[in-house]
Amino acid sequence: MKKRTDNTKNPRPTGTPFTKGGTASDKNSPLLKGVDAERQTGVFTCRPTWQEYFLEVMAAAAKRATCDRGRFACVIARDNVLLSTGYIGAPKGSPHCDDVGHLMKTVVNEDGTQSRHCVRTTHAEANAICQAAKNGISVDGATLYCQMTPCRACAGMIANCGIIRVVAQHNYHGASSAEGCEILKNAGVELVILNDVPPSYKDQ
Ligand SMILES: [Zn+2]
Ligand SMILES: [Zn+2]
Repeated sequence: MKKRTDNTKNPRPTGTPFTKGGTASDKNSPLLKGVDAERQTGVFTCRPTWQEYFLEVMAAAAKRATCDRGRFACVIARDNVLLSTGYIGAPKGSPHCDDVGHLMKTVVNEDGTQSRHCVRTTHAEANAICQAAKNGISVDGATLYCQMTPCRACAGMIANCGIIRVVAQHNYHGASSAEGCEILKNAGVELVILNDVPPSYKDQ
């Protein structure tokens, strides 16, 4: 008798390999070759973890972002269930940076240094929280995945809507981010930073 398999442990159906870093038509993709080998053995080692899965969903959402200073997105999940997504963009009905250019402001920090920010957009974290609110979905006790450590404004919203954990792909430069981290700490929100080096971009 054929042994039954646990689809919970291995839900990827045959013929739809996970092709991270390659496409189905890319026959030379080392990863696809690996998937082919895995298909024969039935042992899938490249299955993403839940964190990798949510970070990949976040990368997909980021493609919708409309400010090229940082095409950031955000995902909120609880108990491995996706609750909400958001990406950086102008508020509903307002023009996008990609169409009319950035709306730059210079911030003078307490230590005398200056930093430049585009303020045309609503941030990904705020948009993900707004999407949950609009649809009546509680994010209490959830984890928020984001690309940068949240700014002061977003951190306040994260703390107040009951999110208990933030996973940031990068540490962000600037005082607002430091203040954001402080707000999360004060609220008892766990902060995990995967990469301490902030990415650089023009007119920082
Ligand atoms: Zn912009
Ligand atoms: Zn923000």
